[in-house]
Amino acid sequence: MTRFIFVTGGVVSSLGKGIASASLAALLQARGYKVRCRKLDPYLNVDPGTMSPIQHGEVFVTDDGAETDLDLGHYERFTGVSAKKTDNITTGRIYSDVIARERRGDYLGGTVQVIPHVTDAIKEFLRSDVTDEDFILCEIGGTVGDIEGLPFLEAIRQFRNEVGSDRAMFIHLTLLPYIPTSGELKTKPTQHSVKELLSVGIQPDVLVCRADREIPEGERRKIALFCNVPETNVIAALDVDTIYQVPISYHDQGFDKVVLNHFKMTPKREPDLAKWREIVHRVRHPESIIKIAIVGKYTTMLDSYKSLSEALIHGGIANNVKVKLEWMDSEIFESEDAVHHLEDVSAILVPGGFGERGAQGKIRAAQFAREHKVPYFGICFGMQMAVVEVARNLAGVKNASSTEFTPQDNPVVGLMTEWVRGGEVQVRKQDGDKGGTMRLGAYPCKLAKGSKVAMIYSVADIQERHRHRYEVNIGYKEKLEKVGLRFSGMSPDNKLPEIVELEGHPWFIGVQFHPELKSKPFEPHPLFTAFVAAAIERSRLV
Ligand code: GLN
Repeated sequence: MTRFIFVTGGVVSSLGKGIASASLAALLQARGYKVRCRKLDPYLNVDPGTMSPIQHGEVFVTDDGAETDLDLGHYERFTGVSAKKTDNITTGRIYSDVIARERRGDYLGGTVQVIPHVTDAIKEFLRSDVTDEDFILCEIGGTVGDIEGLPFLEAIRQFRNEVGSDRAMFIHLTLLPYIPTSGELKTKPTQHSVKELLSVGIQPDVLVCRADREIPEGERRKIALFCNVPETNVIAALDVDTIYQVPISYHDQGFDKVVLNHFKMTPKREPDLAKWREIVHRVRHPESIIKIAIVGKYTTMLDSYKSLSEALIHGGIANNVKVKLEWMDSEIFESEDAVHHLEDVSAILVPGGFGERGAQGKIRAAQFAREHKVPYFGICFGMQMAVVEVARNLAGVKNASSTEFTPQDNPVVGLMTEWVRGGEVQVRKQDGDKGGTMRLGAYPCKLAKGSKVAMIYSVADIQERHRHRYEVNIGYKEKLEKVGLRFSGMSPDNKLPEIVELEGHPWFIGVQFHPELKSKPFEPHPLFTAFVAAAIERSRLV
C-alpha cells in the first residue's frame, strides 16, 4: 500500500522544502521503505525549461528527458532514486491537458471548472505511475496563501478525504523568526500560516519549524496548542552546516517515528544512517581546502548551479578536501587583465549556459586554463566554448563561433536539426518552438580506448543527461584532433561529439552533457572526483 505525504510551506519561500522532503524520504528509505518524491509547481509555465535560471534556478533534467524543478535534484541526491517525467507537474501542464480534453470533447455538455476538473486532473497525476512505493512524498511549490497554489491545496484536501488519514498526511514547513530585541523565537507567523491552511480545509499533522536556534519548550508547547498538533509533531529544522546533516537531525528528533505512527505502521527496523554520518564527517573534517573558479553568467543566483555546486562538494568528499567555489562572472574576463584573477585558483570550470553575453569571457577562461595548464572542466556550453577557443587559437579557424550567436555556413558549433533518440529520428527547425525541444535526457556515449575519460569512468559505454540545442561540428574533428583536441566520447552513430580532451594537458575535458545531474554524495560522479583530484595536484605545484 502506498502512502502519500504532502509537504507544504508557509510564512516565506526558500525555507528548504525540497531538502526537507528529500531528507524525510532518505530517512524512510534508511528504514527499508521504498520511496519516491514528487513536486507540484503552481506556476503557469508548462515546465521550467523556458524560464531564466536567474528567475527559477537550475532546470533539472531527468533520464527520460523532462525539464523539471531543481528540487528533483535534491530528491535524487538524497535518495538515489532517479527522477522521472511523472515526478513533476505544473499548473501550466495541468491546464493544457484539461483544455486539450475539452477541445477533444471529453467533457461534452459540461462546464469545465477548477473544481472538479482541474483538481481531478491533479489527483489523477498524484495517482499516476505509482507502483510498489511505500511512500510518495509530494511537495507543493510556493507558499500557502499564493493564489496559484489554491487548486493544488484543494486537490490534496480532497485526496486525503478520499483515501483517509491512514494513507495521507500533511506536513507543513514554517519559519520561527528570532527577534533580537525581545530575545525570542516568534510563533505568530506559524500560527497564521496554519490558519491559512485551515481556511482551505487542511489541518497539518506535523509542523517542521525552521529556526536559527533551539526551540524552547514553552514555544514548542505554544505551537502545538495553537496549531492543533501533538507536541511530538513539532519538529525543529535548525540551520545546519551541511545539508547532508538534515536526515540525521530529523531522526534525532523522532521525525521518522512520528510519520510511521501517523500511518499506524510498526517500524521495519531502525534506520541505517551510517552513510549519512560518514558524509557529514568528511564534509566537516577535510584535509585541505581547494579553490575552484566557476566562470559563468548566472552567478547572482547560485541556485542556477545547484547540482553543479553539489557535484563539486561530492568531488571534495571523495578526495577528503573542502572545495571552495569562487564564482566569477565571465563578463569580467572580457577585459584583458581580469584573467589574472584565475591565477589564484587550482582549477577552472565553465558550466552550461545560453546566449552570447559573457561567451567571450568563457572563451578567455578556457584559453587561460589551456595555456597555463590549469585543470579545465567545460560542461555543455563550457565544452562548446573550449572547442571554439582551440579552433580559433590553435587550429587557425579564425572565425570559429557558434550559430547560437552568429549565423554561419560551416560553424564549429552549430544548431542540431536531426538526431536519433532510442532508434527514432528527432527533427528540429530553426524557427521551431523553444519549449521542450532541446536534445533532452539520457543518451548513450562511447568512450575512446586509452582516453583520459575512459580511464576516469573505467567503462567503455556511458549514459549521461543532455540539454542543448547546439553541437560541436563533427566536420572539424580532423582539424582539431591534429592540434591535440581529441574527440574521446562520441554518440554511438559517431555523429555527435560528446566529449573532448586536450592531449598534453594535465586535465582539460569538455563534455556536451551534464554529469553534475547524476552525482550523489554517496556516489560522487567520477568526472568530478577526477577533476577535484587534478585541482589538488595543481595546488601542490603552485
Ligand atoms: N546553449 C548551448 C546549447 O543549447 C549550451 C546549452 C547548455 O549549456 N546546457 O547547445
